Amino acid sequence: MIHNTVIVGSGPAGYTAAIYAARANMKPVLYTGHEPGGQLMITTEVENFPGYPNGIQGPEMMEDLRKQAERFDTKIVSDMITKVDFSGPVHKLWSESGEEIHAHTVIISTGASAKWLGIPSEEKLMNKGVSACAVCDGFFFRGMEVAVVGGGDSATEEASYLAKLCPKVHLLVRRDELRASKIMQERVLKADNIEIHWNTSTVEILGEEEVEGVKVINNKTNEESTIPVKGFFVAIGHTPNTAIFNDWLDQDDTGYLVVKPGTTLTNVEGVFASGDAQDRIYRQAITAAGTGCMAALDAERYLTEKGII
Ligand code: NDP
Repeated sequence: MIHNTVIVGSGPAGYTAAIYAARANMKPVLYTGHEPGGQLMITTEVENFPGYPNGIQGPEMMEDLRKQAERFDTKIVSDMITKVDFSGPVHKLWSESGEEIHAHTVIISTGASAKWLGIPSEEKLMNKGVSACAVCDGFFFRGMEVAVVGGGDSATEEASYLAKLCPKVHLLVRRDELRASKIMQERVLKADNIEIHWNTSTVEILGEEEVEGVKVINNKTNEESTIPVKGFFVAIGHTPNTAIFNDWLDQDDTGYLVVKPGTTLTNVEGVFASGDAQDRIYRQAITAAGTGCMAALDAERYLTEKGII
C-alpha cells in the first residue's frame, strides 16, 4: 500500500499538518517518534499561543492537538522513523519496529532539540527556573534577576529579550569573546542591565524546589562565585533532528533542512519540511504550526497535480 501522506513527528507542526491533510481527505499517517508532543511536553505554561486567554499547559495543548488530528481521521502510530529512501517517485521509510512504509508525499516535522549543559542540577530544576526558551518562559521571571548561558545569537537574543523584563541579566560566556553577530554583540554590550561574565562556566545551579542562584567558575583564575538568580536560561544552541535525512535533503551548515523560500518544498519532489527542523530563527509553537499547515497544503497541491487524489 502506498500512503498519500506520511507525517514524521508529533509537535505542533506535525499535528497541524495532520489536521489539514486529514480534512483534505488525504488520510495521513503520523509517526510520533520517541517524544510524542515534542518540545512542548517539557514546557509548563504556554501563554503565547493565540486562542488560550488563560494559558495552557504544554502537554495539555499537545493532547488537544493530537485529539483534533484524530478527530479528522489521522492514523497515529507510536513508532520512530529511523531510515528513509527518497530516491524514487514513491518514498520509502522504515520504522524502529521494522515496518517498511511507502508514501507519495512525506511531511517532515521532526523538530529540534535544545542543547543542555548536562549537569545534574539542570535536570532537577527543569521548569522550576531552568529553561531553554526566554520567549516562552521569560515572563514568569519579570522583576527578577536571571542568568543566560551562551555566547551565540540565541544567547544574546535571549539576554536582550529578558533585559526588557528583568532588572538584571547575567550573561555567562565561557570564552573571552562572543560568537554572536556584531549587531547582537553591540546590543548586549550597550545594555545597562546586562552584565557579561567572561571566561565563565556554570558549576551548579543552586536550589531545591526552585532556582535560588548559580555557582560559576572563572576558567582563567579558577575562582568560584555565586550569582543570586531566580531564572537560568540555557541558550547554547539547538540540534535539528534531521540526521536520517542527511543523504537525501539539502541542509544548511548546522543541519537545518533547506526549503524553497516561502514554501515547505525541499530539494526532493513530494517531500516537505515544516517546524523547527527547517527553522533556526523563530522556533515557536505558532510558527511551527503555521509551517505544518503550509506543508499539508503543499502536499495536497502536489498530490492533485500528479492526479493521485
Ligand atoms: P551557536 O552554536 O551559534 O552558539 C552557541 C554558543 O553557546 C556559543 O557561544 C558557544 O560557545 C556556547 N556554548 C556551547 N556549548 C556550551 C557549553 N557547554 N557551556 C557554555 N557555553 C556553551 O548557537 P545559537 O543557538 O546561538 O545559534 C545557532 C545558529 O542560529 C547560528 O547560526 C545563529 O546565527 C542562528 N540564530 C539566528 C538568530 C537570528 O538571526 N535572529 C537567532 C538565534 C540563532 P563558544 O563560542 O565558545 O563555542
